[in-house]
Amino acid sequence: MDNQNNQNRNNNQDPNRNNRQGVSFVLLVTLITSVLVLFLFQFQNMESAEEISYNKFLKMVEDGDIEKVDIGSSQINITTKKDKDTNIQKEYYTGIVNDDKLVDRLLEAGVEVNQDIPDTTSAMLLNIIFTFVPIACIVGLFVWFTRKMSKGGGMMGIGKSNAKMYVEKETGVTFRDVAGQDEAKESLQEVVDFLHNPGKYTSVGAKLPKGALLVGPPGTGKTLLAKAVAGEARVPFFSLSGSAFVEMYVGVGASRVRDLFKQAQQMAPCIIFIDEIDAIGKSRDTQLGGNDEREQTLNQLLAEMDGFESNKGLVLLAATNRPEILDPALLRPGRFDRRIIVEKPDLKGRIDVLKVHSKDVRMDETVDLEAIALATSGAVGSDLANMINEAAINAVKHGRNAVSQSDLFEAVEVVLVGKEKKDRIMSQEERRIVSYHEVGHALVSALQKDAEPVQKITIVPRTMGALGYVMQTPEEEKFLNTKKELEAMLVGMLGGRAAEEIVFDTVTTGASNDIEKATSIARAMITQYGMSEKFGLIGLESIQSRYLDGRPVMNCGQETASEIDKEVMKMLKNAYEEAKRLLGEHRNALDQIAAFLIEKETITGKEFMEILHQVEGIPQKDGETQPESRIAMKEADAAAGGGEETSDAQA
Ligand code: ADP
Repeated sequence: MDNQNNQNRNNNQDPNRNNRQGVSFVLLVTLITSVLVLFLFQFQNMESAEEISYNKFLKMVEDGDIEKVDIGSSQINITTKKDKDTNIQKEYYTGIVNDDKLVDRLLEAGVEVNQDIPDTTSAMLLNIIFTFVPIACIVGLFVWFTRKMSKGGGMMGIGKSNAKMYVEKETGVTFRDVAGQDEAKESLQEVVDFLHNPGKYTSVGAKLPKGALLVGPPGTGKTLLAKAVAGEARVPFFSLSGSAFVEMYVGVGASRVRDLFKQAQQMAPCIIFIDEIDAIGKSRDTQLGGNDEREQTLNQLLAEMDGFESNKGLVLLAATNRPEILDPALLRPGRFDRRIIVEKPDLKGRIDVLKVHSKDVRMDETVDLEAIALATSGAVGSDLANMINEAAINAVKHGRNAVSQSDLFEAVEVVLVGKEKKDRIMSQEERRIVSYHEVGHALVSALQKDAEPVQKITIVPRTMGALGYVMQTPEEEKFLNTKKELEAMLVGMLGGRAAEEIVFDTVTTGASNDIEKATSIARAMITQYGMSEKFGLIGLESIQSRYLDGRPVMNCGQETASEIDKEVMKMLKNAYEEAKRLLGEHRNALDQIAAFLIEKETITGKEFMEILHQVEGIPQKDGETQPESRIAMKEADAAAGGGEETSDAQA
């Protein structure tokens, strides 16, 4: 909802002008270099005589070949007599040798002898020209260059003109446009109130925070929230990315910070928003040697934050998804002392985001946003916004004038596992393997009480690498998992590989993604959740970059680490054995469902359960399967291939 019309690129200088200046600078340097080279070339030419040895010189004197010599301070220049045939005189030179008899010999041979009288003025002049002029040129250029830089001029794109700073007089975004995130909105409401009515706070003597840090995973709406604060308070919004400050030239970032604050103070009350602040705010002691430019920029930012009075109505908001690496000086009271967590939305949050984004989209009566929200556990605001848009495009593509629930589900699949890859033709044998693999997952999950019900199985390949996948439905949003549920999950994940082994008596590369996921769950159970009997309640790993990939980091010695590996192996082996046992006991069902899947390519959870009950001879109870609208894609496991490479290797 960017109000593009309100956005003014904050360029005091037009980029073409910068380019022109850059070009003229390059021309000037080329000109000076060429003049110098020409000069030196000339100088070289002046000394184009050939060097000879002193012996040869004496021999030439004896032979009477020489007409005249000029004895200089460092060399003797020799001119020969005219050649009888060609009528050409040659020039040679040789070094000075301590030879008292030289002049006598020359006179004896009738050679004209000259001794150079040193011309001190011209020598000095030459010296000055060749030594000082280039130095003066270089110094001059350097001064010019740095002046331009510190003025924030724009020579060769350096300076403020290149920083992508956007100023919006009015963002037009309000808190109503930000769905969910109620706690964050509540904290930011205070800032809005302060910007509206600073007197109310200052009269009591209250100082308002100068800065607040919005922390959360990418796409959760941090930028949107910052814009909404500006929109609610009806103040201008300055926005800049942390990385835009940092250039390879030391001092540029600092000058950009100064410039930003100067401009913002002129427009106060206003909001300055720095996205990805970790680009400049990284802790200064993490690196040996450090990064001068970043540190200077950070120091300047700290100084500017201390410099302005908060009662002027200047509020700094910054966003990051790596708060743990920020410099403590940035987080101390008086700077970014407020931390506002912007988490991934929960079920209600997701429904709200879907509602906000579908406000202007025509939907038909089949649409059930709650079912979509249930299906998209773990998705962030930007994913959901993207899904609504994809669904609208789907509807148009199918020639309809309103979005239906099936468009939305298609969009969910597209966002999570990519589009259907219709041009990938799998051989009959591969289709069989993929079918058994997928049915293996689904059957194991259905046979275990603690696993989620199966809803859809497909063997249509997807662009993001899956050759097939199983959709599973959480009946409700879960925040906790029991040990039993996790164990059941492991068995389900290894069900695909188990089916391959049971049916084909061999295994394929298709289970790589399952194995990776199962390993990380098993490892987390042991090292983080205290779920192994061997280690008990000890934290053996901690999570880093919680808002990004949530990478675990080992906190134990090497010996323990190898014990953990053994424990993980044991856990996975047990799960695999269990999967094989379950499938072996229900081999008939496995065969029949796989055959049906090969024929249909995609089957619903209902069809799956019908065949299972038929084969097992269990009468089907009413309401046993989930309503179709409650389909959830718990896990689009890259069934027979975790990525393109694996799939290609199979094809
Ligand atoms: P972040 O700055 O956290 O990476 P953004 O604020 O840039 O994320 O969000 C990207 C887009 O995702 C927004 O423009 C908006 O369309 C959508 N979005 C994200 N979170 C929400 C939310 N809570 N409510 C509505 N839209 C959201």
